[in-house]
Amino acid sequence: MLNKKLQTAQKSLLLWYSTDARSELPWRKTSNIYHIYLSEIMLQQTQVSRVEATYYPQFLKRFPTLKSLAASSLEDVFSMWSGLGYYRRAKNLHATAQLVGSALPKTKEELLQLPGIGKYTASAICSFGYKQIVSVVDTNIARVLARFFAKVDAKEKELWSLADAFLNIKSPTAHNLALMDLGAMVCLPKNPTCKVCPLHVECLGKDEADKYYKKKNIVYENKTLHYGIHVKNGSLAMQKSTKGMYKGMLELLCVENPHVDDLIGGFKHSVTRFRLDVKVYRLKNITKNVHWIALDSLENAPISSLTQKALRVYEGKLA
Ligand code: SF4
Repeated sequence: MLNKKLQTAQKSLLLWYSTDARSELPWRKTSNIYHIYLSEIMLQQTQVSRVEATYYPQFLKRFPTLKSLAASSLEDVFSMWSGLGYYRRAKNLHATAQLVGSALPKTKEELLQLPGIGKYTASAICSFGYKQIVSVVDTNIARVLARFFAKVDAKEKELWSLADAFLNIKSPTAHNLALMDLGAMVCLPKNPTCKVCPLHVECLGKDEADKYYKKKNIVYENKTLHYGIHVKNGSLAMQKSTKGMYKGMLELLCVENPHVDDLIGGFKHSVTRFRLDVKVYRLKNITKNVHWIALDSLENAPISSLTQKALRVYEGKLA
């Protein structure tokens, strides 16, 4: 694409961004690198509205600095992450804080060495935090670029090159944020609203937008889980998970023999590539060593949303 056309598109994009409501998001109004980093990690698999309204402000209230996060226990971090899912993110956040102490490094190369920081997150920290002249590619931006440059099946490397070619070096941060928002609000996976798109005139793929975007086929795996609830003297029997995505968190006891205990109810739950059919039982006997957690302190315990749902079944709030 000719430079002149790219420049016109860059200008239209920035003009559109100047009226974009998402520029008011709290992590866009701060220059605190830790806050920006935290928002990037939280937003990886969670909707903007949930992060903005609840998790981001609560987490920062509890851990206002990277130093305070580094000094906390993993259990404390998990308890503040409770309900957000994908707990590996919390684990990596904590590990990174402990590695760097009070400040994140300033180069992409150094950031890439830290746990849970990939190419996107490192670039986002450099662009949105340090205001460096670097391009950023997330799933939304990738879709916009593939369509704008009319690239079928563009691979990651090519998309990053296209992002570099399109980057507005006079306003790189606003340019990247604008592209991200354009993908989230206008250049949607289905039915992009090309008529109101600021890139409409220069976009090479607008007439066949679907051709340039293919959703990845995820292969889901079905599993049935049997969880048991045993309460004694106001405390719940739990175990500490030692492996998998919930490692380090508290979870309900697994039921060895579902035919012996009373089935209370069940629910469906999706996590990563798993589609879970969860059955909840009232456990008559417990044979192993357990952690006794007072029922009234569960709110602050490191438990997953899966465990929370199972507890709601026990409380009769979930059929
Ligand atoms: S014109 Fe349509 S396909 Fe092109 S970038 Fe805009 S919304 Fe996407």
